[in-house]
Amino acid sequence: MQDTHISLAHGNGGRFMRELIDEIFARHLANPGLDVQADAVPLAVNGSELLFTTDGFTVQPLEFPGGNIGTLAVHGTCNDLAVAGSTPRYLSLNAFIEEGLEIATLDRIIRSLAEAARDSGVQVVAGDTKVLRRGEGGGLYLATTGIGIRHPHHIGINRICSGDVLLVSGPVGDHGIAVMLAREAFGLHGELQSDAASVLPLTRTALDCAGLHFMRDPTRGGLATVCHELQRATGFGITLEQTQIPVRDAVQSVCDMLGYDPLYLACEGRVVAVVSADDADPLLQSWRALPQGEAAAIIGRLSQLHTHVLLKTALGGERILEELEDDPLPRIC
Ligand code: MG
Repeated sequence: MQDTHISLAHGNGGRFMRELIDEIFARHLANPGLDVQADAVPLAVNGSELLFTTDGFTVQPLEFPGGNIGTLAVHGTCNDLAVAGSTPRYLSLNAFIEEGLEIATLDRIIRSLAEAARDSGVQVVAGDTKVLRRGEGGGLYLATTGIGIRHPHHIGINRICSGDVLLVSGPVGDHGIAVMLAREAFGLHGELQSDAASVLPLTRTALDCAGLHFMRDPTRGGLATVCHELQRATGFGITLEQTQIPVRDAVQSVCDMLGYDPLYLACEGRVVAVVSADDADPLLQSWRALPQGEAAAIIGRLSQLHTHVLLKTALGGERILEELEDDPLPRIC
């Protein structure tokens, strides 16, 4: 890491964030026995297996079409437990509240957080509040820790094989674009909503599939970043088919206008699954039968033929998808 000070790019999910984590946090805190490179870590406690994860939320604005920082905190944390192969059960909640925040806003956010928790089958069982002086916080920050019960079908990044197939459960980039439009910085307003939602119905269905090897939710850094994480961890190359990747027209037109690539934009209610080639089609059919998976698609494959993340374009060409560097949209989660 060359930098002497933190920049926004250290929070974007891409290369700078990876280097920051490797060179500061992992250097001091690495625990090789527990590091499974998943969204949650399995902990053996008295014979039962728990999955454990934690998250922080700084999204601006606090409320956006399709959700708010409260629903995002529940879904973000529960989804990390779900894609790691567990059923979320318990959450803790820390609220860092800035002086001047309207109490009615806080009430709305915590009410919808409670609804999202009930709908996801989790209980908020511990919490803390802190109040920061005006100017020292962005209205409200939330931090959540989650515990889930591990499913008997164990998945992991080390189970991925050459020839495995990649599926995505729905259109990508909705959350990133919905939050950006809600900032009104560009004077654009659309119908577009964040996809922030529980992915549990999708992950439960996927865990019934014997050939499921790994799942991840494409949040910060989007689908392209998940592909880079898979490439780095397995050494296999990934080839994505652009024509198969679902992107809403509204998301694509905002991206075309502003120069974003939807493959790098955050989702908050989608799953990327890595599955054996034989089980790809059955899983696709099971996902498409769910309301959350109607637009699911088989989007690519891992192989030993190369070591890049390659996109086969609609025009028949190929281009390398580089690891995310600049921060396209800070504070989207
Ligand atoms: Mg995740």
